[in-house]
Amino acid sequence: MAFTKKTVRDIDVDGKRVLERVDFNVPIKDGVVGDTTRIKAALPTIKYLVEHNARVILMSHLGRPDGTGYQAEFSLKPVAEKLAEMSGYDVTFVEDTYGEKAKAAVDALQPGKILVLENVRFDKREKKNDPEIAKTLASYGDVFVLDAFGTAHRAQGSVVGPAAYIPAVAGFLLEKEVDTLTGIFADPKRPFVAIVGGSKVSSKIGVLDHLIDSADTLIIGGGMAYTFFLAKGYKVGTSLQEPDWVDRAKEMMDKAEKKGVKFLLPIDNIVADHFGEDATGEVVDSDKIPDDRMGMDIGPKTEKLYADAIAASKTVFWNGPMGVFEMDQFAHGTQAVAEAVADNAECTSIIGGGDSVAAVNKFGLADKMSWISTGGGASMELVEGKALPGVEALLDA
Ligand code: ADP
Ligand code: MG
Repeated sequence: MAFTKKTVRDIDVDGKRVLERVDFNVPIKDGVVGDTTRIKAALPTIKYLVEHNARVILMSHLGRPDGTGYQAEFSLKPVAEKLAEMSGYDVTFVEDTYGEKAKAAVDALQPGKILVLENVRFDKREKKNDPEIAKTLASYGDVFVLDAFGTAHRAQGSVVGPAAYIPAVAGFLLEKEVDTLTGIFADPKRPFVAIVGGSKVSSKIGVLDHLIDSADTLIIGGGMAYTFFLAKGYKVGTSLQEPDWVDRAKEMMDKAEKKGVKFLLPIDNIVADHFGEDATGEVVDSDKIPDDRMGMDIGPKTEKLYADAIAASKTVFWNGPMGVFEMDQFAHGTQAVAEAVADNAECTSIIGGGDSVAAVNKFGLADKMSWISTGGGASMELVEGKALPGVEALLDA
């Protein structure tokens, strides 16, 4: 599906003040930036703007400050320094967002230079999408660029606000994310295998429902499998389960059957007698889970079943680990699935969701995937078929 909004390519930025909302919500410890994935992902648009002689004004949130003013641990200063280091560009940082200092720094900014404003969430009006702060931010720019995919699902001041006052377009990251994640519903190369795991059916029901509309095969793993087992009449012992969601789980299986979508559930499992680092696993078939055991991972027969389906696919979308992958003894199923995806060089592989991305990184397989989404919540909302407020606010192409 073609992206339906205007992008930075469609506007003249030469000499213009370009106010850009990025997602610089990176982990920081003792003033040092940890994982730089999100900064790296923002670079193409920033580079484009600098090379086209724009005055680039960057803003972002970082963490969850109280919204009552400056808090050192949530300052974007170390991120601005990291950006300078990674890009090789001149980057100025101003310790202000909505006040006189910020305005003065914007006025002093030269073409081809970058200014980073302080954390937009130091003022609680940001989260309330207060029109006053939107107006203030909009006054800094001639145009607005949204590239913060990770927050595009939030109707907050710096995400949707400026679009009400100045022309608003997308950056390259936002365009690529939306294109990729909506593309699996528009025209996927087939067979299209969707893998959904994680903890709960209740949090993934919208994702499952929409994926059944497009996928040829749906693979289920993780804690949510046990609610599907209940729907099939199996006993699940002390496994994670949501009895209130059994009817919805049944509906999903019925819908898949009606649509001719293969619906794969684990045929065996690794179970343990308690949830903990010291727990040890044993293999049991899905219809033989003992009353005093809980499912922690998919079993070896299931790994093979899933790997075969993945090997035959041309498109894979994956959200949610197959087991409690944070504990090494229950990470095998998730790793087997990740390796099967990595080994299929023919397929377009798209990974979404915070923990799934962490798992792929943990196994060192990130380079083998076609696209790893930078947005957890935003990517899930797209896969649920929802429109993102940040994207909706942009100019139509
Ligand atoms: P994502 O962030 O990729 O969307 P989720 O947040 O839905 O994924 O789920 C990830 C969590 O699910 C992990 O913390 C993992 O330990 C947990 N999980 C997976 N399998 C099980 C299981 N069998 N029992 C309990 N928790 C599980
Ligand atoms: Mg998660």
